[in-house]
Amino acid sequence: MIPYGHQNINQSDIDAVVDVLKSDFLTQGPVISVFEQNVIDKVGAKHGVAVNSATSALHIACLALGLGHGDWLWTSPNTFVASANCALYCGAQVDFVDIDPDTYNMSADLLEDKLQIAQKLGKLPKIVIPVHFAGQSCEMDKIYLLSQKYGFRIIEDASHAIGAKYKDRYVGCCDYSDITIFSFHPVKIITSGEGGLAVTNDEQLAKVMRQLRTHGITRDCDEMQNAINSPWYYEQIRLGFNYRMTDISAALGNSQLQRLDKFIEKRHELANYYNEMLNSFSVILPFQGKDSYSSWHLYVIQAKDEACREDLFMMLKESNIGVNVHYIPVHLQPYYRKIGFKENDFPVAEDYSKKTITIPLYFDLTKKQQDVVVNSINNYYSTIEATL
Ligand SMILES: *Cc1c(COP(=O)(O)O)cnc(C)c1O
Repeated sequence: MIPYGHQNINQSDIDAVVDVLKSDFLTQGPVISVFEQNVIDKVGAKHGVAVNSATSALHIACLALGLGHGDWLWTSPNTFVASANCALYCGAQVDFVDIDPDTYNMSADLLEDKLQIAQKLGKLPKIVIPVHFAGQSCEMDKIYLLSQKYGFRIIEDASHAIGAKYKDRYVGCCDYSDITIFSFHPVKIITSGEGGLAVTNDEQLAKVMRQLRTHGITRDCDEMQNAINSPWYYEQIRLGFNYRMTDISAALGNSQLQRLDKFIEKRHELANYYNEMLNSFSVILPFQGKDSYSSWHLYVIQAKDEACREDLFMMLKESNIGVNVHYIPVHLQPYYRKIGFKENDFPVAEDYSKKTITIPLYFDLTKKQQDVVVNSINNYYSTIEATL
């Protein structure tokens, strides 16, 4: 079986975790801040807040930006459900902006059209969450300009995109956003087991997110109502959660971070090989915009039509090749249909979703395994063409 994604764990990762297990702190110890510092040094942001998942990071990012009842949050329908659920956690309402047919990212043009309409209706979003699908950055310059014009805040969902670049700067530098979030789930670029991290250049947002990850509690005198400077004293000053990352996770994440460049380089090699070997007359290969240096979290191809995708998917699966669909549009999930979304609401994402297949791409994938994947796909098409 060739899976579609797989983590790479080496002896340094194992040693880093074992070191924590032998230390005094298992959670929220010294390794957390080392990991946070190393991530912000890498991506070029000022502050980093590590949490137990990207889902938690999205939640506290929304809260820090003041999202609540009566507010709207917009995101892409071509994402994991967490990018939209965070709005609902805050009691806000969610809507989507359809995708660009080439990059499969939220379309900046459609965003502008939708903003014009929303302005007339008095329903402008408070937050927009562009998702850097498969590791390719959205057109952040355009989205940023729109945020200035229409007054919304931006959270970049970079769950797929640590190590990716946009206009030669790392995703996460927050040049075009208030907050960027990363995921360290094992299928992502680097892993901490479970884990996430929010980065920002705004000290106040970082402070609030730090409070929110641990019950809304502070031990910092400057943040207290009653500035009692006593070693035992703490205050709960807002309603927070237990979203802490463990030191065990941080040690693994930090060790993996040392290999980020190597991981991304290898992913580029693998993607280039697919680009070269797959028959671009039979399937649509992933388009790359000129401003983007992708982290290649996913390699997605599109079949000609829905029936062809079905066939190809089953054939690959039966050949023990791990295939997947990223994504079923969020608005078509039963839960979202129940709150009023329906088919044809976001036709580009829906059409893409019917034709797409994610094929295996991960650090330890060998050329030989790639050849198996490539030959299966190319042979499938030559067989169909022969029967036509
Ligand atoms: C994986 C993922 C998330 C959630 O990440 P977790 O760390 O598993 O909570 C959110 N958004 C996108 C786009 C993802 O791919």
